[in-house]
Amino acid sequence: MRRLLVAGNWKMHGSRAENAALLDAFLRAEPPAGDAEVLVCPPFVYLHELARQLRENDVALGAQDVCAEPVGAHTGEVSAAMLRDVGCTYVIVGHSERRALYGEDDQLVARKFVAAQRERLVPILCVGETLDERESGRTAEVVLRQLDAVLELAGVEGFRDAVLAYEPVWAIGTGKNATSAQAQEVHALLRARIAAKDANMAACLRILYGGSVKAANAAELFAMPDVDGGLVGGASLNGEEFRRICGAAGKQET
Ligand code: PEP
Repeated sequence: MRRLLVAGNWKMHGSRAENAALLDAFLRAEPPAGDAEVLVCPPFVYLHELARQLRENDVALGAQDVCAEPVGAHTGEVSAAMLRDVGCTYVIVGHSERRALYGEDDQLVARKFVAAQRERLVPILCVGETLDERESGRTAEVVLRQLDAVLELAGVEGFRDAVLAYEPVWAIGTGKNATSAQAQEVHALLRARIAAKDANMAACLRILYGGSVKAANAAELFAMPDVDGGLVGGASLNGEEFRRICGAAGKQET
């Protein structure tokens, strides 16, 4: 049985005071997260403090990005070892905002995936198509190209301790989520790509859906057979709402 994972991507939001209030609201809210694993990904500068605040609360900590290099003259970058050192267990790689705004290509994302695993961090690899790509019938081609770049560098073995996230770019921060059928279709395609190389690995791989997940649509999305949780942006900035999303994941049987 796969334990569903709900990850909150705070993006470039928060302050020490706001983070404490958000965490407090999340921890006090109902319903319980049930069986779901919960993870928050704040900006780098807050990781250390949050690691201490989360220690007692069964909420894991992740970063939003990582340097592909292990150490050295890379001004402004943060290595996987540093993330490990401050208490991270997960890291997002290849978020569409990194790809679109900071020019990260498939090969760099693959190197980040491998760099994370070298330090025993679990990478959450994001893939997803733009609206233009979907409307021109290229969704499968795009997400499989993004996945294949990582398969090529890390091998299928790399997916033993990894998470995949399907995040259609047109659904991120727009309030317009993919339907559960659209999500299921792409998730099944991604899982089949891994299954072609290793069926057991594919069966255990968690594939998250991201893109305007909220409490109102979470249960329907998480009920899909190949949707193993969510990567949640905007709605993770509201403690009660995020709690309800985790509650929806915690109720699912997989
Ligand atoms: C994200 O940032 O990965 C995301 C899915 O954002 P949102 O939930 O706001 O669409």
